[in-house]
Amino acid sequence: MIRIDGLKKNYGNYTALENIDLELLNGEFIAILGPSGCGKTTLLRLLAGFMKPTEGTISIDDEIAASSSKLVPPEKRNISMVFQSFALWPHMTVEEHIRFPLKHHRFGKTNAKEEQEKRVSEALEMVGLSHLKDRYPAELSGGQKQRVALARAIVPKPSLLLMDEPLSALDAELRMEMRREIGAIHRKMGTTIIYVTHDQGEALAMADRIVVMNHGKIEQIGTPESIYNTPQSVFVSTFVGKGNLIKGEWVNEDKFIPADFPAVSWTDIGIAKEIKAQNLYPVRPEQWKLGEVDQNQMTGIVQFAQFQGNEIHYSIQSGEEMINVYASVFEKRFLPGDSVSLKIYTGTAQKAVLVGSR
Ligand code: ATP
Repeated sequence: MIRIDGLKKNYGNYTALENIDLELLNGEFIAILGPSGCGKTTLLRLLAGFMKPTEGTISIDDEIAASSSKLVPPEKRNISMVFQSFALWPHMTVEEHIRFPLKHHRFGKTNAKEEQEKRVSEALEMVGLSHLKDRYPAELSGGQKQRVALARAIVPKPSLLLMDEPLSALDAELRMEMRREIGAIHRKMGTTIIYVTHDQGEALAMADRIVVMNHGKIEQIGTPESIYNTPQSVFVSTFVGKGNLIKGEWVNEDKFIPADFPAVSWTDIGIAKEIKAQNLYPVRPEQWKLGEVDQNQMTGIVQFAQFQGNEIHYSIQSGEEMINVYASVFEKRFLPGDSVSLKIYTGTAQKAVLVGSR
C-alpha cells in the first residue's frame, strides 16, 4: 500500500535522511525506532505530505504521492496524526474534538447527523471517555487528553495513522496502559500505523515490525524478536536491549575467544557478519549467568548491584570491559566488590545451553 524508494531529505547542506527503502503492508503496525536526531520525525513529515523529499519517492496505492517534483498535500491523503503535545483546542469539549474531523476532514467527512453521532460515540467508547465527553481540555489529565487526540485521529477511519512519540508526555504507568490500549485499538480497527519512538520498550511491545534508524539511515527492519535476538549491526545490538559487545577474536566461523580471557571460548549463535567482522561477540544483559569464581572462566568484579524488584542489575568490571548483567532475584546474590564468574546462556528459553567454561 505504501512504498518508499530511495528517499533522501536534505535541510540545506545537511542530510537528515538517506537511502530509505521501505514497504508497508496493509494493517501493519510499524515502529520507527532510533535516537534523537536520527530522522524519525523527518520521515513522518514526508509520509504526511508536509514537504517534498530531495530525492526518491513515496507511493500510496501504486501512485506517486511525493517526489522532488510532486507533492500530494496532507489534506488529500487519507491520513491522521497524533502528536506528543496532544494539540487540543481549549475552547472545544471532548465530544466536539472528536466530531470535528467528521465535519471537516475530506475523507472522514459525513453529513448524516445520525452517522456522525454513532461514530463519535463509538470512538468515545473505544478510548474510554464516554463519561467525560462534555469536559474541556483544561479539565482533563494528560492521559485523558492523549485519548481525545487518539479518538479524533481514528474517527475519520484513516487508512494510515501516523503517531509521533504519542506517549512521551505521560508518566510511566500511564504509558504502559496506553500501550495496551493503542494495541487493542489497532487490532480492532486494522488501520496501518506508523509509530515513531525512541523508547525501545514501546517498539518491542507494540509493533509488528520495527525499523531501527541511526544517522538518517535504516540500520535494520524486522520483527521485534528478530531485532532483539539477531541484531544485524553493532549499533542495533547496543541500542536495543542495552547489549554488551565483548571484544576478542573469531578464530574461525564458530569459535570466539574473548580478548581478556584466552582460556574461554564461545560458539556462534547466529551472529551477524558485520559484528563478527569487527571481532565482537554480542551478549544480552539477561544472557549472563553469574557464579562463584572457578578456573578457566571469564571473571569480573561487581561494581554496582541495583535491586529492581524483579531483577538485580549488575555492572561488572571484567578485564577492560564494563558489563551489564540482569539477573533473576532467584539466583545467588552478589555484592559490590565480589568476584564472580561470567558464563552465557545461548539457545532458547526452552532449550538453554550454558557456554563459557571448559
Ligand atoms: P527527535 O527524536 O529528537 O525528535 P528525530 O529522530 O525525530 O529526533 P528529526 O526531527 O527528523 O529527528 O531531525 C533529523 C535531523 O535533521 C536533526 O539533526 C535535526 O537537527 C535536523 N533538522 C530537522 N528539521 C530541520 C530543519 N527544518 N532545518 C534544518 N535541520 C533540521
